[in-house]
Amino acid sequence: MIIIMLGAQGTGKGTVAGILNKRNGWVQLSTGDIFRENIAKGTELGVEADKYISKGCLVPDEITISMVEKRLEDLKDEKGIILDGFPRTLEQARRLDQILESKGQKIDWVINLETPRDEIIERMLNRRVCSQCKATYNLILHPPKVEGICDNCGAELIIRADDSNADSIKKRLEIYDTQTKPLIDFYNEKGIVIVEEISQRINRLAEEACDDFMQRIQK
Ligand code: AMP
Repeated sequence: MIIIMLGAQGTGKGTVAGILNKRNGWVQLSTGDIFRENIAKGTELGVEADKYISKGCLVPDEITISMVEKRLEDLKDEKGIILDGFPRTLEQARRLDQILESKGQKIDWVINLETPRDEIIERMLNRRVCSQCKATYNLILHPPKVEGICDNCGAELIIRADDSNADSIKKRLEIYDTQTKPLIDFYNEKGIVIVEEISQRINRLAEEACDDFMQRIQK
């Protein structure tokens, strides 16, 4: 089973992928997490990626695609893979199809998360991430039990560098609109997109989106 998480930043892709991982054992492959790990370790990939990420830009396709291709090879025996944050451009989507086709695999489902834009910005400003285990919190919706400390592993919670100001958030959302949103049509043509709304306003959170998704794919 190969699933792609689509949706703007802050819609909850990582949260939904995490729930599906816990429920089904499907592995989460988050390109943002891989880049951040590499930045923290100061690897060559991290130094290169940081030039783009710190400005709120996408990391170039060649770098991102070859990183994902290697990671997919490592995960080839997994029963399920959730791609969280990849693909983000049409070029990445086309190359992903080719990579999977060469292994006799294909994308089974695309989950497109939708959240009102004003809620997204508020969520990103209130997002905190564990510096060790990468668990995500929201100071309003899902605060940690002890301020600044991860419930899971006790490590310090941090603000992602690219979440720290409204300008960087707006820029990333503009890039989403121009570069990533066209992927919805690309995958709609294949008939594999399932739209899930996540919005605090209508009290529909990630758990319900996952329940609905699991029911729909089992039909
Ligand atoms: P995320 O954690 O998914 O929001 O990703 C954080 C940042 O990593 C993004 O704002 C991009 O700069 C970079 N990034 C993550 N995934 C990709 C991708 N598929 N293509 C290019 N850049 C990416």
